Amino acid sequence: MTAPSPDERALWNISYGLYILTSHLDRRLNGMICNTVMQVTSHPMRISVCVNKENLTHGFISRSGVFAVSILADTAPMELVAHFGFKSGHDVDKFADLAFQQGATGSPLVGDHCLSQLEARVLDSMDMGTHTVFAGDLVAARVLAQGTPMTYANYRQVLKGKVPRNAPTFSANRAAQANEPGPTSGRAANTSPRHVCGVCGYVYDPEKGDPEHGVAPGTPFQETPPDWVCPLCGAPKSAFTPA
Ligand code: FE
Repeated sequence: MTAPSPDERALWNISYGLYILTSHLDRRLNGMICNTVMQVTSHPMRISVCVNKENLTHGFISRSGVFAVSILADTAPMELVAHFGFKSGHDVDKFADLAFQQGATGSPLVGDHCLSQLEARVLDSMDMGTHTVFAGDLVAARVLAQGTPMTYANYRQVLKGKVPRNAPTFSANRAAQANEPGPTSGRAANTSPRHVCGVCGYVYDPEKGDPEHGVAPGTPFQETPPDWVCPLCGAPKSAFTPA
């Protein structure tokens, strides 16, 4: 008799925070959104992160042996999360137009909308197949502001954020469930004026348009310019579906 396969849904009840994980290499800086930071010991103070091998930050940490974590406040805007979570450092310099400091490890640290900053030197790593777990000694840490740290649940429920495919917690089943049309939504979908980005969850509301990018309020989604892209993550119009 074979044992039943584990119920993936049981994993969906694990709680996480949301962080900007950064590193550097050869004067290049990069950062990404990460939900897998945890403190592993107190004496000495050590932390760990789990990172997908395809992420540029993974290569930077592997080779530089350092990483930093900026802990997001729950008031951080979706734009900041999307900037680090849905753009690749392979394509854009995420620090080109963003305020940051470089700490003891040389890794960039984000201050705006963050409560604390941590810096670590890699002590050891564990190959987990698609991902690597890096564990490191805390070499610097500072508190920037009082507040409530952002949680993964807050990101998904309040900001309506999506989970990138590279995230350790990405689930194709969960993503499909979230996008599954309800029993009556087929007809509504054709007439729905709002459209949602399948990459980051941004909702285009025709009443508001996207004035910052030349789309006037009152413009139906279908009438936005062909080259208009998601203002949060840069995905093309084809990534949108009726909300
Ligand atoms: Fe998007």
